[in-house]
Parts: sequence; C-alpha cells; structure tokens
Amino acid sequence: MLAVLTRFIFIALMALTAAYLTSKNWGETLGIPVGIAIMAIPLLYSYINLARLRKYALADTLESMPLPSGFWEEIFFRLQRLVGNLKLQVRVTQQQHDRFIEAFQASPNGIVMLDDQDQIEWCNAHAEQFFGLNFRRDAMQRINFLIRRPEFIQYLISRKFEEPLLLERMGSDNSLSLLLQAFPFGDKRHLLLIQDVTDLQKADAMRRDFVANVSHEMRTPITVLMGFLETVQSLELEKSQRDQYFDMMMSQAQRMKSLVEDLLTLANLESNTLPAPMQAVQIPTMMALLKNDAEALSQGRHTFHFETATSLTLLGDERELLSAFSNLVSNAIRYTPEIGSITAKWSVNEQGQGEFSVADTGPGISSEHLPRLTERFYRVDRSRSRETGGTGLGLAIVKHIANRHQAQLLIESVTGKGSTFTLRFPKERISA
Ligand code: ADP
Repeated sequence: MLAVLTRFIFIALMALTAAYLTSKNWGETLGIPVGIAIMAIPLLYSYINLARLRKYALADTLESMPLPSGFWEEIFFRLQRLVGNLKLQVRVTQQQHDRFIEAFQASPNGIVMLDDQDQIEWCNAHAEQFFGLNFRRDAMQRINFLIRRPEFIQYLISRKFEEPLLLERMGSDNSLSLLLQAFPFGDKRHLLLIQDVTDLQKADAMRRDFVANVSHEMRTPITVLMGFLETVQSLELEKSQRDQYFDMMMSQAQRMKSLVEDLLTLANLESNTLPAPMQAVQIPTMMALLKNDAEALSQGRHTFHFETATSLTLLGDERELLSAFSNLVSNAIRYTPEIGSITAKWSVNEQGQGEFSVADTGPGISSEHLPRLTERFYRVDRSRSRETGGTGLGLAIVKHIANRHQAQLLIESVTGKGSTFTLRFPKERISA
C-alpha cells in the first residue's frame, strides 16, 4: 500500500513539475494537459494490464500468462497461484470421485443411488445388468417405473428397509435370484445394494433335495425292515420261513449300509479340496482285483475282457481310483442282462492321456439322461438300480474322484446296444 502511495505521490510530483515547467516555457494553457497526461500514464498501464487479465481469463489460460512488472506482478502472481490451487483441488476431488466410481463398479454387487424422490442418481454396471437398466437413459427416472415387480414396489412404499428383499426369476432370462436391501444415507437418499444369490439359492435347493433324497432312500429299507420284524415277532413261523425273512432283512440292512458307506465316501471326497496325490498305481494288480470282484458279482452271467494295453502307469490315489473303476465295472454288470459282455481296458491315447474304459453290451442310455447321470440319486431305471443294490450315488462318486485327478468322465451310449464309460486322465498323471 505504501509503495502504491509513494508511487502515486512521485507521479503527482512529476506531473506538477512538468506542468509548472511547461506553463513557464510554452504558456499556461499547456501546463494542465501535460500534467493530466502524466497522471494518466499509470491509469493507462492499469487499463492495459486489466485488458490482458480479461483476455487470459476468457481464454482460461491464466496460469500461462506472462507476469507484468511492478505493482500488477503481485496481483497476477497471486491470481495465478489461486487458480493453480483451485485446479489442483478440483483434480484431486475428481480423482477421488473416479476412484469411488471405480470401486463401486468393481463390486460384485449391484449398487443404485436414489434421491429423496426414489429417482436414480447413479447405478453401476451390475445393477444395469440385473434390472435391465441403462444409466444414460434412465438417470433421474423413478426406479419404481423401471422395476415393475409388485414385491419391489411394495418394499419401496413400505419403507421397511431393515430386512432384505428376495427377488426371484430376475435378469434377461429370468434365471437370477437377487437379494436387495435399501440403506438410507445423506439427505433422505437411499443406497440400494443388490446381491446375486442365484448360486446360493441353487446350493440351498440342492441341499434340501439331497436331505429329502437321503431320507427317502433310508425310509424305504427301514419301513421294509420293520415290517419283517413285526411279522417275525407276531407270527409263529417255521424255521425255513423265518430264515427267508432274515435273509430279506439282511438285504435291506445291507442296502442301508451301502447307502451310508457311499454317503461317507462322497462326504470325504467333497471335504478334500486338494488334488489327488501322485502315487504310482499298480495297474496289473488293480485289474486283477477288478476282475475277481466282477466275476464274483456276475456269477457267470457275463463274459469279461480285462485288458492292460500299455505298460505306462497312472499317478493318483490308488484307493480312490479302485473305487471309481470298480463302480464303473459293477454298473456295467448290474445293468447288462445275462450273456452280455463287458470289456475293461487301460490304455494311453495318441495325445498321451491315460484312459480307463468300461464298455458293455447292456441296454444303453438315451441321450437326454447323459448330462444328469452323475447327479446324486439320478437314476434312469429306478427299479433296476434298487434291485441290483444301487444307491444312486455311484457315478457321483466317480465324477468326484475324476475331478480330484483332473480327469474327465466321458459317456458314450447307444440305446439297445450298450454303453462305454471312459475316465480320461491328463498326460501329467501318466508315468513310465
Ligand atoms: P446306481 O447306484 O443307481 O447304479 P449310479 O450313479 O452308479 O447309480 O448310476 C446312475 C444311473 O446311471 C443308474 O441308475 C443307471 O440308470 C445308469 N447307468 C449307470 N451305468 C449304466 C450302464 N452301464 N448301463 C446302463 N445304465 C447305466
């Protein structure tokens, strides 16, 4: 301020001196205009700088403006610094905003921000996909106009957001189950969080089915067993008759035992998430064991060919593999009528993959059943399965063991001709 004042006094003195001198030399009339002209110099300078400031401000390039000298330098410098700081702040805020948006987009959940009128202020890509929304098109639209499910509209109206809402048959193909909950925030705004619970719902349904199936499978032999017990208890039976009943009771008890054993095997396999170990399997010994068991089960009703076509061996868990192979062989025997033939073969294909296959000349399986055969308790011929002591879990066990050995279970079947079940092992599990 002092500098400005000093400068002003200095210019005024100069103007006065000039006016005095000029009025003495060229007449009094010239003194005043000369004085005014000198006084106007700083005004002109200020005007020029103001014009420059305006030009740069309009062009939004204040920061690159060259600094004038003198009194205006400080003003320009401070303005430039202010603008620089403001721009930096805007950039930082923009970056934070972008990061929030990125985080919300990265979330596996759908997110919708609603204003106090339930209009969509923002939503992420998952929410768009879940509800068929398009943020560009639907921004600031009321959400109840876009999601027309009565239970959702009721949920919004009720304002009871303590509990989530389950919306089933959602998505473009009605296949999604979504769990949605609204959370209040800010000024009467709401955040809708939407979780895709399709897999959880499926797993839950599978668990329920499984429990129902197990109960059903157990109830039948228990009921039959109790019936026999009551008969034996209440009737005077001859020894031969009683022995016959005991045999039948034994077979029902055996059925329950097999079921419990298979359930335990499955549970063990499921709880073990590690891949199977890489132990060398004694294929010839295993083939001999399988053949013995097969002949005992068949009791001469089938012809067998057991072939070990390669000297290469398999690396895996011997006990599990024996269980998987013998399941396939026993299925072939159980479903193939008398005089049928069964071929079990261990070989290595051209790609170096190991293959254990069991081919039979049984009834075959029509193609619509093939994708579901490895589901627990899925049976094509329910009565044949039960008659032959099947639990409906055999192929589910085989599939699990295959997975633990990174193997594929391939099923080829022609109805009326027979089926071939092949376990194909990756070449990493084949060894000399
Ligand atoms: P199960 O104990 O009933 O045999 P699995 O899981 O081993 O259960 O097999 C599932 C179903 O697949 C069987 O019920 C049967 O209908 C069918 N199946 C399995 N193997 C054969 C086969 N070799 N020939 C014909 N059908 C088969």
